[in-house]
Amino acid sequence: MAKAPHVLVVEDEAALADLLKYNLEKEGYRVSVANDGEEALVVADEAKPDLVVLDWMLPKAPGIEVCRRLRARQDTRNTPIVMLTARTEESDRIRGLDLGADDYVTKPFSMSELLARLRAVMRRIRPGLAEDKLVCGDIVMDRVSHRVKRGEREVHLGPTEFRILDHLMQHPGRVFSREQLLDAVWGSDVYVEARTVDVHIGRLRKALMVGDENDPIRTVRSAGYALDVDA
Ligand code: CA
Repeated sequence: MAKAPHVLVVEDEAALADLLKYNLEKEGYRVSVANDGEEALVVADEAKPDLVVLDWMLPKAPGIEVCRRLRARQDTRNTPIVMLTARTEESDRIRGLDLGADDYVTKPFSMSELLARLRAVMRRIRPGLAEDKLVCGDIVMDRVSHRVKRGEREVHLGPTEFRILDHLMQHPGRVFSREQLLDAVWGSDVYVEARTVDVHIGRLRKALMVGDENDPIRTVRSAGYALDVDA
């Protein structure tokens, strides 16, 4: 399976937070929940979510402040944010969008409406997450049938190698540290030694390189690994 997108739900109403978590998980997302604005910033830092669903009225730090601070940080600068607002004043919505929220949904909302909006935001902002097919140089990944080809050759990968390649192909050229790959592929709640990444990268390379094919994975000393765009 390609790694499911990770959604951070920031909502202080426990019943609504539970309902959101339940429905988002049913939809195939991985979900973290934060119950106030300060916790949201901590969890966002740790979990590196692909998308944030952010309530406007929150204890400790209001949603608009959380939004502003997520936008100010390097690693969450481009993370899509969908705001939940009970307010109907147009000026508040506009303020939210001005501060970098990607969309807003007014409470009360239907779950199907919210899910549709989230899917739309994902497709718009991180097309890699919603795409069935990834292409990088001569490597083509079909994420539905879980098949990988290099040129005309079928590449056989184990599930972990598949997920690593999926992640690298979503961000071609970008260097990932072992820790970032661990978080992205295994999840931050699992303890795996950083060396394990090297082992799986080794297997991935072996599967991708047959005969005189070049090595598409660049090792960046003391930094990590990247998939080269012109592989
Ligand atoms: Ca609230």
